[in-house]
Amino acid sequence: TISAFELYRSFTSGKTTTDVLRGIDVAVQPAELTLIIGPSGSGKSTLLAILSGLLRPDRGSVHVLGEDLWRLSPAQLDAFRLAHMGFIFQGFNLFPALTSLEQLLLPLKYQGITGKPAMSRAERALDEVGLSGRAKSRPAELSGGEKQRVAIARALVKNPELLFADEPTSALDSKNGQVVIELLHRIAREHRTTVLGVTHDGRLLKHADRVIKVEDGLLVSDERKS
Ligand code: ATP
Ligand code: MG
Repeated sequence: TISAFELYRSFTSGKTTTDVLRGIDVAVQPAELTLIIGPSGSGKSTLLAILSGLLRPDRGSVHVLGEDLWRLSPAQLDAFRLAHMGFIFQGFNLFPALTSLEQLLLPLKYQGITGKPAMSRAERALDEVGLSGRAKSRPAELSGGEKQRVAIARALVKNPELLFADEPTSALDSKNGQVVIELLHRIAREHRTTVLGVTHDGRLLKHADRVIKVEDGLLVSDERKS
């Protein structure tokens, strides 16, 4: 589903240039939960951003669902990401003023889906993450784990083929972290969504189908768990 070839990326600030990715080849299989692990500063977020169309590599190519991602025009890339990709973030990125249900209705509205069909999809997605009972709650009234589950439901409501998650559990305690990772694993299996995440937490790796380790801008291991 995702395959990348010879990815290079560096960042320059002032006179110093840091080579963050130094030639990475990687393939991500469909309908699996793949986790990227590695030390702080090793290039995990940079890799995820390149694979998800957020950051252009200096060199190398990324194919996603058969498209050569970085050969698309900016408008095509935006449309592709909107149609096929969902994102969840460390800080949840929920709107403080909106209820859980409204957070989910917003991306649907953006896609022209409103009224009853939107409502039933949003309710189904909340149910899927076990939060039917919190449809009317705003973020301030939810626990961290619940907020992240609302964010997952918001990403799921569009039925994306691909879901990207940079450190989705790092703001959570270990129990809620487990819940979130298990949920992502179930989504991969049941919806056949390709889920690619980054984590710091070694305890979560047992829930992944596959673990990719990045060190100092290179892919150092690629281990299948199931
Ligand atoms: P962490 O585990 O701390 O999140 P990471 O593995 O995700 O780390 P990256 O965020 O990919 O690491 O960053 C790798 C290196 O690239 C770091 O040294 C970082 O300072 C640098 N870097 C990342 N983004 C930028 C940017 N936009 N401009 C300049 N330097 C950057
Ligand atoms: Mg990071």
